Amino acid sequence: MSAVHTVAPSPVGTRTLSGRRLAALVRERCGDEQLAHDVDVVARILPFKVSGHVVDELIDWSRAPDDPLYRLVFPHRDMVTPDQYTAVERALASPGALRAAVAEVRRQLNPHPGDQLTRNVPHGPDGSPVDGLQHKYARTVLVFPRQGQTCHSYCAYCFRWAQFVGEPDLRMADDGPAAMTAYLRRHPEVTDVLFTGGDPLVMRAEMLRPYVDALLAPGLEHVVTVRIGTKAPLFHPARLTAAPDAPALLRLLERVVAAGRHLAVMLHISHPRELAPDTTRAALAALRGTGAQLRSQAPVIRHVNDSAETWAESWRVQVALGVHPYYLFVERDTGAQRYFGLPLHRAYEIHRDAVEALSGLGRTARGPVMSTTEGKVIVDGVTELPGGERAFALRYLQARESGLVGRPFHAHWDAQAQWWSQLRPLGSYDRRFFPGADREGGP
Ligand SMILES: *Cc1c(COP(=O)(O)O)cnc(C)c1O
Ligand code: SF4
Repeated sequence: MSAVHTVAPSPVGTRTLSGRRLAALVRERCGDEQLAHDVDVVARILPFKVSGHVVDELIDWSRAPDDPLYRLVFPHRDMVTPDQYTAVERALASPGALRAAVAEVRRQLNPHPGDQLTRNVPHGPDGSPVDGLQHKYARTVLVFPRQGQTCHSYCAYCFRWAQFVGEPDLRMADDGPAAMTAYLRRHPEVTDVLFTGGDPLVMRAEMLRPYVDALLAPGLEHVVTVRIGTKAPLFHPARLTAAPDAPALLRLLERVVAAGRHLAVMLHISHPRELAPDTTRAALAALRGTGAQLRSQAPVIRHVNDSAETWAESWRVQVALGVHPYYLFVERDTGAQRYFGLPLHRAYEIHRDAVEALSGLGRTARGPVMSTTEGKVIVDGVTELPGGERAFALRYLQARESGLVGRPFHAHWDAQAQWWSQLRPLGSYDRRFFPGADREGGP
């Protein structure tokens, strides 16, 4: 398969564009003045950024704005309500009014779903919070290296958008590997460390090295798995092939494997077209060459990948390229959920129909999964109970309260429900799986 070449590569090259320059790019590529204006308005509210690779190799500009790869990264007026759009558009002329209007709309967009800023931050022996770490499930600690809190391009549906808009108190970021090391020494139950962001592979190899060195030093042998969450091979594959420090990065990853650890690269793959460019295939081969295991995850998103054929194709190609499908997520209740979200039963059908088309090796993505405050909840299916009532069959894959993991439970069928908070437990047995929620059982 070859890359999608619709126009000659632009002067964008390997640079990234964000903010107002996105509107100029849309004007240049599409010649649509209204579309460019919409991009300008919405880009004031939510963060957008696009790499030269996405502009030149992935987006089919002849199909914009309906092209799925365009939808993946570009602002669209339907991402906000008409009232929100108008409020910001009217304020464009006055910087003070614009700041206030933008701040108000952002607040309405639920910037921190699932209380992630407060509920998962671990504490040191003196009770003070350890910045830049999250520890929600016993076995896995998330690390947010400070220099990795951005990405090569931004997915317009990103639930971490609040971290990218530059309000310092909304950010999660660490102060180097020392706090991580001290925390892990006190927590021998932790087997997995997941570097996340943003995208930790925006960091130069020399910035990443102290973290790897710290994990491989004596005393942290209980950390069996080092995971790196990244979209670099899809958004900016040159990071792994042509960047000046690409060889140093690959050598660093090899050291993890040589030390007897499992190195897991958790790729965020939204659409099969992302896997087409030769540069991306070279980047994936380079990662595999380090001895890393490649896994993939992504949310199912309206306008981008909301069909079973898209997922079947993506997973088929992934298997061929040595990538193990891992999670299929449900879009979270934040940012542009109204634009990207799908009913849960649709997400379930897409997953089901996609796996039907694949052998077992392509069926390894668990989903659809909602990553909620209480845990990761999978929608196992839609079922009819003995009384004739329709219900969602659900199960925790991870839970804050670990005793809930793996036990089937139910919620009332709801054709519109898009998220956990809209589900209602079916009966008294099911109610215990909805901790903290004051939701009643019967209709
Ligand atoms: C998903 C997630 C993990 C990892 O869960 P696995 O099922 O082990 O992949 C860890 N911590 C948090 C906060 C998560 O959301
Ligand atoms: S790659 Fe991940 S963290 Fe980066 S913008 Fe996309 S969803 Fe967000």
